[in-house]
Amino acid sequence: MGFDLNGIRPNGEDKPDAPDWTRKDNEEEKKAYFAWQTNTPGAYFRANVWGWRPIWEAVFALCDDILTPEDYNSGGMNDGYVIDEDKASKIAKKLKYLNISKMCEEREKYLNSLPLEECEICKGTGHRNDKIVQGKCNACNTPFQKEKGIPVGKQKNWECNYPLHEELFKEFIKFCEKSGGFEIW
Ligand SMILES: [Zn+2]
Repeated sequence: MGFDLNGIRPNGEDKPDAPDWTRKDNEEEKKAYFAWQTNTPGAYFRANVWGWRPIWEAVFALCDDILTPEDYNSGGMNDGYVIDEDKASKIAKKLKYLNISKMCEEREKYLNSLPLEECEICKGTGHRNDKIVQGKCNACNTPFQKEKGIPVGKQKNWECNYPLHEELFKEFIKFCEKSGGFEIW
């Protein structure tokens, strides 16, 4: 699952009509639309669910004077919720001058400080004896885990699936600034 954000008035311009995606005989038109999308600041931003959640969370934490709790919750729903131009531009203004690198580093430090969790697959024993695996647990009792210094029977905290990616966050801020408001699909 991912999140697609579409600018409402990207770069201050009217949007071209989207091609009919169900047709098969308009490849050129589709190509032209994608080219417009790629080349127009504020037209489109995409993140997978692991990437989007921490960004939107951070945005809400920093902009709770701009966004309502409803905005925040609806931003995780894939239902085309609209953040209007006024809010988008206020968010961008606020985030633009923050030290995003530092914020991402701090998020990483925080994630690394979280306690390890018991491996759910083997209930922390390090061994499985079920229909699929008999022997070493293939989730926690592996050379890969060992290399990362995680003891057998443990796994990284679930929250570690949601790091804050600096490049992606910066891309979002640029998108937000030029979007003229956006829909979250
Ligand atoms: Zn395990």
